[in-house]
Amino acid sequence: MDLRRIQSHLAALGLERAQAPDAAAWRQFLARVEADSGDAALLRRERYLEAVVEMQSRLLSTPSDQLGAFNHALAPLGEAAGASRVYLFENHSGADGTRQTSQRAEWCAPGVTPEIDNPDLQGLSYDDFLPRWAAVMGAGQRVEKLHTEFDELERELLGPQGILSILVIPLMVDGAFTGFIGFDNCASATRWGKIDVQLLSAAATQIGLVLAQRRAQRRLQAANAEVTEARDRAVEATQAKSVFLAKISHELRTPLNAILGYTELLLEAEEDDAIDLVDDAQRHLDLERIYRSSRHLLNVINDLLDLSRAEADRVVLRREVIDLDALLSDLLSATRHLARRQGNTLTAAIPDALGSLVSDRTRVHQILLNLLSNACKYTFDGTIRLVVRALEETVEFAVEDTGIGIDAAHLERIFDAFTQADDAPTRSFEGTGLGLTISRHLCRLLGGELLVASAPGRGSTFTFVLPRQPPAPR
Ligand code: ADP
Repeated sequence: MDLRRIQSHLAALGLERAQAPDAAAWRQFLARVEADSGDAALLRRERYLEAVVEMQSRLLSTPSDQLGAFNHALAPLGEAAGASRVYLFENHSGADGTRQTSQRAEWCAPGVTPEIDNPDLQGLSYDDFLPRWAAVMGAGQRVEKLHTEFDELERELLGPQGILSILVIPLMVDGAFTGFIGFDNCASATRWGKIDVQLLSAAATQIGLVLAQRRAQRRLQAANAEVTEARDRAVEATQAKSVFLAKISHELRTPLNAILGYTELLLEAEEDDAIDLVDDAQRHLDLERIYRSSRHLLNVINDLLDLSRAEADRVVLRREVIDLDALLSDLLSATRHLARRQGNTLTAAIPDALGSLVSDRTRVHQILLNLLSNACKYTFDGTIRLVVRALEETVEFAVEDTGIGIDAAHLERIFDAFTQADDAPTRSFEGTGLGLTISRHLCRLLGGELLVASAPGRGSTFTFVLPRQPPAPR
């Protein structure tokens, strides 16, 4: 009660001049003061109740997925409490499993510096900064302190925010400590009264419940999204499997039909005793077709076996120190004649000091051979270059060509099984469409990566990055 109101009570009792009141006047005076403070308490309670109702309606009228809604809802509480700052913290566990809390919402009185963007108030570790708060609030008790009572850690955290008096109320949901709501007084070092604490605690209970409900809603939405994603993935996988099976049967049936067809022709000619009528050149051509189709069939089957092993992670990988110079010169001499076949020049840029590489020699050879053979196959009268870069942790092999290139729409799909940039039945290139799929799988098993950059008509670069040490076996 301020001095003016005391003076007016004294004046009403005729005691304005300094005089010693008699016992009756003194009792009257005390009764008036008591009635007046009762009125003030009622007024105060009323103001708080209005603030709580306003807070509730603000919470209910804002979308549930916006945590920012709480900023708006804290304002009536801050104004009713005459606080400088009101804030809401939510508990969570950090990436390392420690107990942490983060500021989610804030209201500030005019002229008070906001702390909502203070990075120190995000992911704040209870054990490092507020061990006592965690213990007190974990037991459902509030923290009430004047700045003169702050311990060292509190002074460090709260001092710079200009806090002179603080009231922090835990948010308890089903007996669990889920966060807190805090009231700062930066204007005077006075404690909050009993009514303030009672009504702010009631408001905190409601905020805690709304927060828990929103958290549950978020979890439900996330779980729904996960289920939907898993279902989509399962549908996609089933579709991919059907497409894959259809492609396999097509890839097996095409050469088999050719083999059967030409064999039948030759057999019929023989049965009709017309074999002599089929000229030698024609017979040779048919036999050659049978041979090519059989070889292709064998390649498809071998590739399929390789792929299924790689996909099931059943490839047994060796760990050996690879003599890179020998491996690269092997590869170059194996592919030189392939390059020449289509008028291509094969060159290499290999540094003198390659350093050591521990990996599976056969698999590294297989991947590079596939990349070099592709470059030779899809390039005409151009250049193929093998560029090796020895980096500290990795060795990079780039196979560059000036061939037909691949358009952007096909670029990632070429790593899918049986996918060829030219998928038309009239395609002019031989191949199973499995080479890159297998190579990428193997690369990843070796701890590396296979990347591509290409432009139609300008050529392609396939880069195979390999760690100098293989990953630890699973
Ligand atoms: P394929 O046996 O058909 O060569 P791959 O899996 O090795 O199968 O390659 C898949 C597809 O990627 C090829 O059919 C081709 O369309 C494209 N491709 C691969 N390498 C090159 C390259 N160097 N230049 C152009 N296209 C390429």
